[in-house]
Amino acid sequence: MGNQPLIVLSEESQRTSGKDAQSMNITAGTAVAEAVRTTLGPKGMDKMLVDSTGSVVVTNDGVTILDEMDIEHPAANMVVEVAQTQEDEVGDGTTTAVVIAGELLSKAEDLLDQDIHATILAQGYRQAAEEAKNIVEGIAIEVEEDDTEALESVARTAMTGKGAENAKDHLSELVVRAIQSVADEEGIDTDNVQVETVVGSSIDESDLVEGVIVDKERVHDNMPKFKEDADIALVDTAIEVPETELDTEVNVSDPEQLQQFLDQEEKQLREMVDAIVDAGADVVFCQKGIDDMAQHYLAEEGILAVRRAKKSDMKALARSTGARVISNIEDTTADDLGFAGSVSEKELAGDEKIFVEDVDEARAVTLILRGGTEHVVDEVERAIQDSLGVVAATLEDGKVVPGGGAPETELSLQLRDFADSVGGREQLAVESFADAIDVIPRTLAENAGLDPIDSLVELRSEHDSDNTSFGLDANTGEVADMEGEAVEPLRVKTQAIESATEAAVMLLRIDDVIAAGDLKGGSGDDDDEPAGGPGGMGGGMGGMGGMGGMGGAM
Ligand code: ADP
Ligand code: MG
Repeated sequence: MGNQPLIVLSEESQRTSGKDAQSMNITAGTAVAEAVRTTLGPKGMDKMLVDSTGSVVVTNDGVTILDEMDIEHPAANMVVEVAQTQEDEVGDGTTTAVVIAGELLSKAEDLLDQDIHATILAQGYRQAAEEAKNIVEGIAIEVEEDDTEALESVARTAMTGKGAENAKDHLSELVVRAIQSVADEEGIDTDNVQVETVVGSSIDESDLVEGVIVDKERVHDNMPKFKEDADIALVDTAIEVPETELDTEVNVSDPEQLQQFLDQEEKQLREMVDAIVDAGADVVFCQKGIDDMAQHYLAEEGILAVRRAKKSDMKALARSTGARVISNIEDTTADDLGFAGSVSEKELAGDEKIFVEDVDEARAVTLILRGGTEHVVDEVERAIQDSLGVVAATLEDGKVVPGGGAPETELSLQLRDFADSVGGREQLAVESFADAIDVIPRTLAENAGLDPIDSLVELRSEHDSDNTSFGLDANTGEVADMEGEAVEPLRVKTQAIESATEAAVMLLRIDDVIAAGDLKGGSGDDDDEPAGGPGGMGGGMGGMGGMGGMGGAM
């Protein structure tokens, strides 16, 4: 064998291995955490994000910031995924999860520098995370299903520091009512709470419609605008005469034949409408089109009909009114119909919409959010989505933990004790994990303009005396019992720990990065990225680090 190197990779591909790979990934991961750190907690700051077309989003929501940021570095994206998982699983705690992941990585770097092997580190982190879940469960507080007050407190906590702040009492009441309405034997699907935003009045005037709002008008002006005690038909096929399948031409030689042909069509339409009328329907929602002639017949019968309703609306209507979706119009029976006390066409935000209300058991509801400007309502909507998520999680699991860094303080104390029982080199990893978790109370204090060291010392001393629900009240700046102040579902914490640990461990175990394109040169897969957009890690990440740096020193 000669000493000619064997080249197996193409010329453009780039390879980074060993310590370099690890430290590159750690830098990218921690930069993501830095980017959202200053938004954490009720006193966190907002960010203004401007995309390449100039459209602006002002937000405090971790996952929204990261989604808008157009991050390209693969390792950074693995940390962004932590936020996305958190959003999917609980709907809140996205910043927390990312900040923990970043801190786990940065603490790991110290250990790697001390020549602790990544495998040992990974093992220690995993052990610590397992134990952490037991510890938070140990301090969890039970919440009964009908404890509306506790649920509202959970809803309020998720809204603190967001655009919804001013009206959070009113909004949290609506959120809890909404979730309680859509809960059923199979659990809670927050998709059954539709959110409609309206620009142009105050947040206090937001309201909950215990029913469905369909963003459509009546199909014909001669139809009634209002139906009381309405029997409702949901049809998912067109109320039209099916077009002939074959592309044939019909040759008619005399006018009588043509008339016959048209009569035949009319007769078919008449039969369809009759089937609906005979079943007793007062209102028809059709997912497809309705022929002009059929519209006319329906109007004559005093029926309120809507065409081209969205599939999601049809589903919500079926849930709320108890209607069965009809695919075969001829076979419609009274049993297929649903019921609502009131169906009406009303104006909302400048458009006519159909309100289906007064249903027996509203299993799909609509939250109407109002606010002064579009940016305000958008941010309120994000806060509401978080809030819906946490109330649902609380109802499902029946457990909450106090906020303000209380669980994290308890965790880091108990994990340090646990570390002693682990022994070996893993012990160091468990200790680092415990240190890393402290980032949450520390950041809450920093963002509230308090001295993080003082706050941490005070928190630890309370927890040493078994005051497990003591946290940092960001509004008063005091360390106090948070149980009545801020509470979050247990799942927010367990999920954040789990996904943050997994992402950190996964990144740490990588010692070789082989990229098909040029990593630092920017996009390998993006096609039309404008020249000014974030490049790869070199440009993009550096910029973000700067953003995070605004929040003050660690
Ligand atoms: P996330 O995206 O992680 O939900 P948030 O900005 O919503 O980030 O902040 C959540 C953190 O704020 C949690 O640790 C929660 O306990 C804390 N928090 C909420 N209300 C208060 C409060 N009144 N005082 C102190 N901390 C609070
Ligand atoms: Mg939150």
